[in-house]
Amino acid sequence: MEYERTPGGAVLMDGNRLRDQLIGELRQEIHDLGNPVVCLATVLVGDDKPSQIYVRNKRKKAEEAGMVSRHVELPGDIDQLQLEAAVLDLAHDPSVHGILVQLPLPEGLDAERVLDLLPPEKDVDGLTERSMGRLVRGRVGHVPCTPLGVMRLIERYGIETAGRSAVVIGRSTLVGLPQVLLLGRKGCDATPTLAHSRTADLAAVCRHADIVVAAAGIAGLVTADFVKPGAAVFDVGISRTANGIQGDVDFDSVEAIAGAVTPMPGGTGPMTIACLMENTLAAARMQGQINPGS
Ligand code: NAP
Repeated sequence: MEYERTPGGAVLMDGNRLRDQLIGELRQEIHDLGNPVVCLATVLVGDDKPSQIYVRNKRKKAEEAGMVSRHVELPGDIDQLQLEAAVLDLAHDPSVHGILVQLPLPEGLDAERVLDLLPPEKDVDGLTERSMGRLVRGRVGHVPCTPLGVMRLIERYGIETAGRSAVVIGRSTLVGLPQVLLLGRKGCDATPTLAHSRTADLAAVCRHADIVVAAAGIAGLVTADFVKPGAAVFDVGISRTANGIQGDVDFDSVEAIAGAVTPMPGGTGPMTIACLMENTLAAARMQGQINPGS
């Protein structure tokens, strides 16, 4: 495949393009399976504008993938027990296969208690303790969508991982920790280092890596001096700055040295949504909605 390149010659890992391709593949797969109902339920609490946009986008992509989108919208002043009752309804409803509770929840609501109600099969965000436990134990379950999206970029852009060194910047359970587990697991076989705010000489640590995944949320943190020539650099961070949305990677300096790089926006963000849809189809399979063997 002929890849688009940056002015400096790095392969531009285009998340929008790959998202559209993956959504098209999921749509085709559902069609080939005889159009079983695959339902993603979204739960939005309150009127936070970015959350509204994220949820709208996820619902639109679910429909594009040939899935059914069910939406539950709840007022910001709902109490914990009412919210839990609404989520439990979805958890018990056999016609719902994936449940996404948009985070963060409004102040005063306990997200952990809500996530604890999700059966692992329906936890398509992969955020619950049980999903994380399954990932650690190598059992079938849902993997958080953002690190899974990075893995899909790695696979589809043919980035070598076996025997390669990787640095993941950030150690959250949402991105950094599962990213390290995915890069280090059998079959991928990279040797990952988990870096964080207390890492000494982060630039030197990154400079030895063949793969860098930046998920710190610090605009422009990764500059050219962090990058080994030819390395693959994935920008996960999103910061809202006076100059608009910026990633963790200083794209203009890094693209001249890296072998492959994601743009921001248009890199890891769209892949997160594509992987949510991938997890939702997997969820329907886990719940017997799709004939075994198909
Ligand atoms: P988080 O929970 O705030 O974690 C940030 C991590 O970065 C922490 O482990 C922190 O280290 C580390 N860190 C902070 N400053 C650092 C520095 N100067 N050097 C090295 N490490 C540093 O954030 P998150 O939920 O993982 O999200 C990370 C970023 O990704 C955010 O910008 C978020 O908006 C973005 N995000 C993007 C997507 C997407 O689809 N692209 C999806 C989810 C999140 P300590 O542990 O030592 O504090």
